[in-house]
Amino acid sequence: MSLMRRAWAIRRHALLMGEVQGQGYIGQALGVADILAVSYFHAMNFRADNSEWEQRDRFYLSIGHYAIGLYAALIEAGILPEDEIATYGMDDSRMPMSGMAAYTPGMEITGGSLGHGLGIAVGAALGLKRKKNTAIIYNLLSDGELGEGSTWEAVMSATQWQLDNLIAIVDFNNQQADGPSRSALAQGNELPKWEAFGWFAQEVDGNDLDALMVAFDAARHHPEPCPRVIICNTKMCCGISFLEAREKTHFIRVEPDEWAKALLEHEEKKPL
Ligand SMILES: [Mg+2]
Repeated sequence: MSLMRRAWAIRRHALLMGEVQGQGYIGQALGVADILAVSYFHAMNFRADNSEWEQRDRFYLSIGHYAIGLYAALIEAGILPEDEIATYGMDDSRMPMSGMAAYTPGMEITGGSLGHGLGIAVGAALGLKRKKNTAIIYNLLSDGELGEGSTWEAVMSATQWQLDNLIAIVDFNNQQADGPSRSALAQGNELPKWEAFGWFAQEVDGNDLDALMVAFDAARHHPEPCPRVIICNTKMCCGISFLEAREKTHFIRVEPDEWAKALLEHEEKKPL
């Protein structure tokens, strides 16, 4: 199946989950669907029937509220069953609105409070090295987390320990709870900062599957013993035009008739 079709399916699973609750972080899920597709269906080694396989590459979701997006990818990967979509966010569901490692197969960490995911990833990457395990840790963090001091402590630690098995992915959607990230502490032009800290850094259009594949390949195969980061410029609500046009997209309410409209628009864009 093509990556375009995978990304489309991830967006569809997320929309169907959003419809269950009528609200949520659907804008983020639609924004990172292409990153998730390239992670799970181009870059990562995993076994759908054994989410704790020791040699698996790990995907650490630092931003727990993006869980709806990761569930969609885990469903598409066959790690979670599609028929649990109807339970999303309900009591006793394995898919709570914020990601919880103890609840969900494939949810490696409990992300949020924000700013801690990269630190956890650094510890895990160091642990894998000491166990001679060649798996890779992918850590998806947000532009809002670039304003957290703990993130930069982790950035320095990763360089200190020469963690070439760590790939950070920054979802730079220029949006956080209080407004544009560029009006807060993440000013844009982030790439030289990461480079100055000793990382192999790339910046790409995070909604361009081909560009993402090239960047992930370069990150995986970079020869220097340093950590890697891919700064991905993404569009909130990517793929659904009337949602993309909304001014406030951090946590959105979508009216019942609008879910149908969104799903219809998405169906019309189904790749062959
Ligand atoms: Mg953001």
